[in-house]
Amino acid sequence: MSEGASGECTIYEELTQKDEEENTSDDDESRVCGVCGDQARGYHFNALTCEGCKGFFRRAIQRSMQLHCPFMNNCAITKNNRRSCQACRFNKCQSIGMRRDMVMSERDVLERRMRIKKRKMFDVPTQLSSQQEETIQELLCGHHSTFDSEFSRFSGFRPMDRIILSVSEYNQPTSKPFQPLTNCSTGTCTESSKSATDPRTSSHANSSSSSSGLCGSSEGEKVGKSSVFTALPHMADLTTYMIQDIICFSKSLPDFRSLTIEDQIALLKGAAFEIMQIRFNMVFNAKTNIWECGQITYCIDDGVRAGFQPLLLEPLFRFHHTLRRLGLQEEEYVLMQAMSLFSADRPGVQQHSVIDKLHENVALTLKTWIDCKRTGPEKHLLFPKVVACLTEMRTMTEEYCKQVLQIQDIQPDDISPLILEVVSKDSCNDF
Ligand SMILES: [Zn+2]
Ligand SMILES: [Zn+2]
Repeated sequence: MSEGASGECTIYEELTQKDEEENTSDDDESRVCGVCGDQARGYHFNALTCEGCKGFFRRAIQRSMQLHCPFMNNCAITKNNRRSCQACRFNKCQSIGMRRDMVMSERDVLERRMRIKKRKMFDVPTQLSSQQEETIQELLCGHHSTFDSEFSRFSGFRPMDRIILSVSEYNQPTSKPFQPLTNCSTGTCTESSKSATDPRTSSHANSSSSSSGLCGSSEGEKVGKSSVFTALPHMADLTTYMIQDIICFSKSLPDFRSLTIEDQIALLKGAAFEIMQIRFNMVFNAKTNIWECGQITYCIDDGVRAGFQPLLLEPLFRFHHTLRRLGLQEEEYVLMQAMSLFSADRPGVQQHSVIDKLHENVALTLKTWIDCKRTGPEKHLLFPKVVACLTEMRTMTEEYCKQVLQIQDIQPDDISPLILEVVSKDSCNDF
């Protein structure tokens, strides 16, 4: 048995030893090993001992050694003869108060070493692993083929209830609360009605006034005779278009395709709204409060006229500002989408552990990406801020589903089956 070789101590031992050394540092007289009388360096396993007796006691416990005294079980243990009888040395250890429960098993020591190694890897991620690079490339590729920031593929939709205004016009400050749109000024809208005095329209305008003022109200016209929510047909078409692209995005990912179809549906239902908002954030202009979707631009008031309530729109608006302020790069945006998509805690998910792994993988990739590619003091807070944004969206997803169903009750013909499927609570097996 080698005795007290340096570097043999576990971190735990090192740490506890240091503390206790400090406690006894001014007590040099008594610093002898309670077992053999050799010079003691500190407290080990609850007793003041030398390095040799410390190592001896640990090995005896870890190896569960069976010890027998060849003499009378009363050998005197000294610095010079301490190796001659292990049994009596061990008994002496116990008699001076060394505790077996403070010795970690060899497996514990190994596990601890692994944990420390792992932690070091997290602290100093020198570069992205090739697998992480691949994950990012897959996500970027899927994103590029399914998200068109110019919205050039968005066509054939039902018209917006207003004329398309330029950004500068939107931006004009207004103190007027939102007014129902009564006059049709140009021919961009195909249908108009004379229902400006419709009492339902008026009450809608009143109830929604609290979330107005976020951007200027626009002039336009009402669509359809029985429409309370005049922007709903167009907004429903936009949402449907976005969801279809998000389904294509998900299907482009090998990890997603490897899941059961039931889980694919559960994940999409859970994440569609969130991914849609992440994507809309990429075209959000925080200075003008406008979502710049190619030829078409949107403001928060469009959501009001589609029937959404302040309980959703206000946090949503704040969310877009918060997320935009982070100044995410495209890689970070797509990883954020993937983190939302691979969320094992969505209703109806079966393979929790598989999806948890996928989530962990993309989350770690984002964290490593930020560590490697970002500079400046704000980089350390970026990952937790992205996670906070994702958490915030969770609450909004619930509210969104609730409000869509309320809108559907009032104006049942405008919302597509795809949107209804996303917001419905029951799982559906065909899409
Ligand atoms: Zn000793
Ligand atoms: Zn003995």
